[in-house]
Amino acid sequence: MNARQADLGRATAAAQAAQPFDLERIRADFPILQQQVHGKPLVYLDNAASSQMPQPVIDRLVRYQTAQHANIHRAVHMLSELATTEYEAARCKLQGFLNAAEAREVIFTSGTTDAINLVMHGHGRKFIRAGDEIILTTMEHHANIVPWQMLAEETGATIRVVPMTHAGELCLDAYGALFNARTRFVGVTQVSNALGSINPVKAMIATAHAHGVPVLVDGAQAVPHMPVDVQDLDCDFYVFSGHKLCGPTGIGVLYGKAALLEAMQPFKGGGDMILSVSFEGTVYNTIPHKFEAGTPPIAAAIGLGAAVDYLGAIGLPAIARHEHALLQQATAQLGALPGVRLVGTARHKAAVLSFVLDGVHPHDVGTLLDQDGIAVRTGHHCAQPVMTRLKLPATVRASFAFYNSPAEVDALVAGVRAVQKVFA
Ligand code: PMP
Repeated sequence: MNARQADLGRATAAAQAAQPFDLERIRADFPILQQQVHGKPLVYLDNAASSQMPQPVIDRLVRYQTAQHANIHRAVHMLSELATTEYEAARCKLQGFLNAAEAREVIFTSGTTDAINLVMHGHGRKFIRAGDEIILTTMEHHANIVPWQMLAEETGATIRVVPMTHAGELCLDAYGALFNARTRFVGVTQVSNALGSINPVKAMIATAHAHGVPVLVDGAQAVPHMPVDVQDLDCDFYVFSGHKLCGPTGIGVLYGKAALLEAMQPFKGGGDMILSVSFEGTVYNTIPHKFEAGTPPIAAAIGLGAAVDYLGAIGLPAIARHEHALLQQATAQLGALPGVRLVGTARHKAAVLSFVLDGVHPHDVGTLLDQDGIAVRTGHHCAQPVMTRLKLPATVRASFAFYNSPAEVDALVAGVRAVQKVFA
């Protein structure tokens, strides 16, 4: 970034900070929120599973499909060049969104799961051997556990797990003590999808680097809620999904430091990831293309670019402030109800509130709330080690986005009270 771009960036940030957070205007951008469910206004509180798409992103997808679509990178005709330009422009938007040093450090994947599998195959299978150790945390989503277990099974490596407290905070002393001469990799989620805990990943990365160990940060639940700067974090890999960020499904991002990506072996082989192919031998393409074999999700990548533009115009700091207020309101109101136990009370939390009700199974809570038009998630949230640690089979999880309102938090609390009455 040059001095003028930095000045413009600061001016935009200042303008955003000065703008009031216009919730009604924002909500009007989301057509799906205007509907009724079971005759009640939809209260969508399942944003940690997938967020909704605003009209400007929908419009961008329609414009691409109606006027710009062709396959990319492979033709000289006008439409193909236009689609290629738009696809690569989306990569640059994602670079800016993460403050990555270079656009070629941004790989489009199909999502967080795909990105972690890419790192497991590309980096893990090349550099991790029998007897090596991989550090993960109790709080990981299954997407950041199972690929590493598959690698451990294949190579004879071992997985070491960072414990967490009952409140849902990682035990950092225990984390530091896990490092030894065989430690080769760390995978950690920035925000827990089941509990909302925000982990101190910057400090954890510094600890790993002091031992010469690279770190993958699962940012699936972080990027929708807070500004992320991969250079400031100094993470080696950072992954997330578009569909939790007001973008389309089927698209996600792997950020990796250029040197690490260059050292990795490709995961998928095929068209576009090569410079030349013959039966005597194939020369792989440079990054990022080396990791984008075949026709990528072009429309989805462009849609994700529009989504980060949309979020950027509102401003992640303003989004974080609004969501924090919703979380505080929900925590205070639900926490005050007799018979409600909040699950996950870490000091630093993002917009996730897990809870259980005395004497009522979480699935029954979810089903009855749905009758009131309130969408929450119930279950283990693909984080079974968290549930095992807390000795719970499941929780009810309300997860907020910037388009949720205080009135919707009130509706959730009223809905929970109504469920309690049914089971009283
Ligand atoms: N990690 C975390 C923390 C998540 O919350 C999720 C989605 N629930 C994933 C990974 C997996 O994301 P996806 O299904 O989009 O690949």
